Amino acid sequence: MLTKVIAQTNVDHVEKWFERAEKIVIVSHVSPDGDAIGSSLGLYHFLNTQEKNVNVIVPNHFPDFLKWMPGAKEIIIYDRYKEFADRLLMEADVICCLDFNVLSRIDTMEETVANSPARKMMVDHHLYPGDFCGITISHPEISSTSELVFRLICRLGNFNDITREGAECIYTGMMTDTGGFTYNSNNKEIYYIISELLSKGIDKDEIYRNVFNTHTEGRLRMMGFVLYNKMEVFRNFNAALIWLTKFEQRKFHYRKGDTEGFVNIPLTMEGIRFSCFLREDTEKNMIKVSLRSTGSFPCNQVAAEFFNGGGHLNASGGEYYGTMDEAIELFKRALVKFEDQLLAKK
Ligand code: 5GP
Ligand code: MN
Repeated sequence: MLTKVIAQTNVDHVEKWFERAEKIVIVSHVSPDGDAIGSSLGLYHFLNTQEKNVNVIVPNHFPDFLKWMPGAKEIIIYDRYKEFADRLLMEADVICCLDFNVLSRIDTMEETVANSPARKMMVDHHLYPGDFCGITISHPEISSTSELVFRLICRLGNFNDITREGAECIYTGMMTDTGGFTYNSNNKEIYYIISELLSKGIDKDEIYRNVFNTHTEGRLRMMGFVLYNKMEVFRNFNAALIWLTKFEQRKFHYRKGDTEGFVNIPLTMEGIRFSCFLREDTEKNMIKVSLRSTGSFPCNQVAAEFFNGGGHLNASGGEYYGTMDEAIELFKRALVKFEDQLLAKK
């Protein structure tokens, strides 16, 4: 049995909204990751069994290693089909906002979602949920939005309506947001949920291979390059930095998603508890900042104070508008500012 994480009033509310709704649109954040796509498609497959007219819209494209997911081909990419997507959003009865906490995280879709007369509900696990939804299901203590979607469907009394396809999507989101159950994954109920998903016939080993073992040759070579040439270790701060320019990414035939997970690698070094990856974006004129930490070091505070960003305690990010040298200098200043916490025991 699962603990009742989601408040009963929220469950009752969702039940009523879903019952009355004909057209439901699911939206998730810019540069969607495994949990964004997994939670969206998990809910999508469930709502399809309820005979709803349901669409998933995300702001921009998502990485190739998620394209095998059942339903991925039906996802509408907003920046390619803006007019069509705007119409769906304006005509929706309910908009489900998954895996993000504030409207700015949906980028160019923000305005239409804000202006749509649809009822809006949030299912999310980021800190500090904004106040833009009639129902806010926000649980930062839960490691993935996909897990919350599973919990919500069960609480609605619809476990039996989770199909194998839906279970595959939910599992993918749970797996990717915990790095294959290697962090944020000590809650024993996660494993109860996995066993329930296995009962739907998912092949978890195949899902792992589909997501983690289908990289391009360019990615692997770029990984070697970045670790050998572009990593600076700050032993005195228990921290490490890696960085990549546009030029370097082009040299390795960079494709979206190729650098996914790079930021985690320095944390596999003994004694390193804070890692930063700075990547010049190949499309927008900015530097994408990814931060990871272990234990109690709050990398979301670094993201917020130095890089216009935010996120979770151990995984956060932001954006920097300026040169790579400036971004590196800023990171070094962050290390000095957070020195005490970086050197703290746990
Ligand atoms: P990643 O490093 O994988 O891009 O992002 C990790 C986490 O950091 C995301 O799940 C999200 O919570 C947060 N994050 C990443 N980029 C941004 C950003 O630009 N702004 C904010 N507020 N959060 C971000
Ligand atoms: Mn997530």
